[in-house]
Amino acid sequence: MIARVSLEIALRKEFDYVIPPGLVGQVDVGSRVQVPFGPRKVLGVVTAVAEESAHANLKPILKIIGAQTLVTPKVLKLARWMADYYCCAPEIALKSVLPEVVRQEESGWRERLFVRALPMPGDFPKLPKRQQEVWNIIEERREMPLQELVESAETTAATVRKLEDRGLIEISSQISERDPYAREEILPTQPIVLNASQATALKQIIRAMDVCSTRVPRVESGTVSKEDRGLKIEDGKGAAPAILHPPSSTFLLHGVTGSGKTEIYLQAIAHALEQGKGAIVLVPEISLTPQTVERFKARFSSGKLQTLVAVLHSHLSAGERHDEWHKIRQGRARIVIGARSAIFAPVEPLGLIIVDEEHEHTYKQEEAPRYHARDVAIVRGQMENAVVVLGSATPSLESFYNASKGKYTLLELPERVDDQKMPHVRVVDMRQAAVKEKGPPIFSRQLKDAISDRLERGEQTILFLNRRGYSTSLTCEKCGYVAECPNCSISLTYHRTGTKLLCHICGHLEQVPSVCPNEKCKNPAIRYSGTGTQKVEEVLAKLFPHARVKRMDADVMKRKDDYRRVLGDFRVGKIDILIGTQMIAKGLHFPNVTLVGIIYADLALHQPDFRAGERTFQLLTQVSGRAGRGDVEGEVFVQSFTPFHPAIQFARRHDFNGFYEQEMEFREQLKYPPVSRVALLTLKGRNEEKVKFSADHLKRELEKRLVTPKDSRYKDLIIAGPAPAPLLKAESFYRHQIMLRTTKMSALSRELSLMAQALALPEDVTLTIDIDPVNLG
Ligand code: ADP
Ligand code: ZN
Repeated sequence: MIARVSLEIALRKEFDYVIPPGLVGQVDVGSRVQVPFGPRKVLGVVTAVAEESAHANLKPILKIIGAQTLVTPKVLKLARWMADYYCCAPEIALKSVLPEVVRQEESGWRERLFVRALPMPGDFPKLPKRQQEVWNIIEERREMPLQELVESAETTAATVRKLEDRGLIEISSQISERDPYAREEILPTQPIVLNASQATALKQIIRAMDVCSTRVPRVESGTVSKEDRGLKIEDGKGAAPAILHPPSSTFLLHGVTGSGKTEIYLQAIAHALEQGKGAIVLVPEISLTPQTVERFKARFSSGKLQTLVAVLHSHLSAGERHDEWHKIRQGRARIVIGARSAIFAPVEPLGLIIVDEEHEHTYKQEEAPRYHARDVAIVRGQMENAVVVLGSATPSLESFYNASKGKYTLLELPERVDDQKMPHVRVVDMRQAAVKEKGPPIFSRQLKDAISDRLERGEQTILFLNRRGYSTSLTCEKCGYVAECPNCSISLTYHRTGTKLLCHICGHLEQVPSVCPNEKCKNPAIRYSGTGTQKVEEVLAKLFPHARVKRMDADVMKRKDDYRRVLGDFRVGKIDILIGTQMIAKGLHFPNVTLVGIIYADLALHQPDFRAGERTFQLLTQVSGRAGRGDVEGEVFVQSFTPFHPAIQFARRHDFNGFYEQEMEFREQLKYPPVSRVALLTLKGRNEEKVKFSADHLKRELEKRLVTPKDSRYKDLIIAGPAPAPLLKAESFYRHQIMLRTTKMSALSRELSLMAQALALPEDVTLTIDIDPVNLG
């Protein structure tokens, strides 16, 4: 027997090895193996098993790693699709579907010494006092970790060993599972009676799950093209059918914050468990708070649907991640909740995938494989006949468009549960404030008054500014000097703590000059301009010296527990005003927060990105959603220099549909997603001339292969650029870009992969291909 193996060293090729007699029956598709490669031993994954090979003189597989196949055939197939669609080497795609710690050669289980009481054959001996005390604890627990015993009995291992010598106990090494949530106390919860719109939504999801259960999985069909049809966007000609047969198994759950989406997820998961299937719940890393996890654990911690809920995210220790992953692989945990890469969790059979906050950009991985977890979720759902639910208060245009075309089923929850009102949003025109106060203030009169009201009433306030640091730049008004990063084409940000200038791209640090560094100028009156969260904090302290203020951004939240601690303090009312960057924008429920202030709403609008309006709308809506989750109606102040911008006005009116209609006009006109799909090709190098030259060369190649041929399939292809990237220089590398737009991305990405491999580039220029990019920087 022969095994085909994909090696971890990226070679875009697979190699055949003989399965030695001792391993026959153990090596299967998905097994992790060690094989000889030249003089080295390398690791790889078996991608196929065959009777014979086209090659002679095959070497044998050396050994198998792990008792179980690590990559299930279904996940393997998903990795293949990913490599194809996102233009990356299959080895890289394969590598990303397993957590690093699971891929390692040694088993990652933690063994610990356990103490176990043994049955007593004869009379119980009389023990010295200390030993008797220790024995009392063991007798009650029967079995426990040695370390725990030593701690709770305040004794030493030597004393415990004496009991072992007497034949009373046995000390042995056992696997001890690490449970990252062991210290949380979780009270079981019961399903809540749904309101009418929740019930309608759940009914449709359940019906689709039942239909899926009776369908033959499409995973056997072999080709990928058919399966990713659901992802492709058609050119919009011809009306979408009113009723879909069979019903779509992807849902877009559009519900304002607090409308009860999570409760629907929980009840849909319960249905999956009843069907004997499991579920994956994706949430953005930042909303993966203990509160979120707890809600899922609490529902499935008891009763007949009891199961383990595994959690996968980057804050776990390697050991915890190892154990959580294996709980899933062994089928003990049937529910997985995690960030982006949890979409590859080996849940089998899989009944349901939930992508919460589906519009979040953190679902996109910014390094190879540059996959979008939401889109991978949809493909996986189709491959494994699982129902996919995308949830959001502010759906991405992509998903809403697919729903409007009938590709997804739209489910709407228009109201908050318990009739809580949406907050009242007031837009403050900062141009007028600037005139009155001779220069733009940080706080408008209106916002100041509102804060002071809340302080008097003992209610809480959240202030939002998506920019950390003190000032955005250091400028000389006399000669026009701006302190810039030597490695990146952006200005340095002034940080008050440590009085330093910091680059937010590469981390470059500089001391603040006391006079203008321009030799000919040396102006001592060099100034800081622009506002960051640090400055908001400082000004606020002057305005309200008695208020208890806390700031939350990447500069102060350094340790794993900081975030939790501050939120805990805020929850119990130890903080009056919380200032923060997007860290505080989502998922937090604080009933006593009745005011939200958005210091500078235009910030996201000025990004050189066709999604700038969409991002602003989403951000304003999400941040506003933090206000008024209790009995008192919330109030939001949006400070803006462009108060009539549609993104701001539609957010003010909580009008998603209005925003969608208006934004789609612009996307249609310029053929931007969701009307098309984008491939962003970036050339990078230290020598700008060479980068430019390579970009021109690439453009000619693209035209030659994709545009000139008479039979070209890419009739709708738009090639824009090459042009310098919005951030021309980052970490000493110059970047030039070409943007391609087409509706036929599956085909195009395959073609781009081939081209990239054949393209002759100078040695120090690299090309990256980003399919469906979310960051155009
Ligand atoms: P979302 O996920 O849309 O923000 P949640 O599911 O978190 O909304 O619901 C908000 C709050 O309302 C939660 O505390 C939840 O337990 C509660 N809730 C959800 N559905 C109902 C319902 N039908 N009746 C009463 N309370 C509900
Ligand atoms: Zn820099």
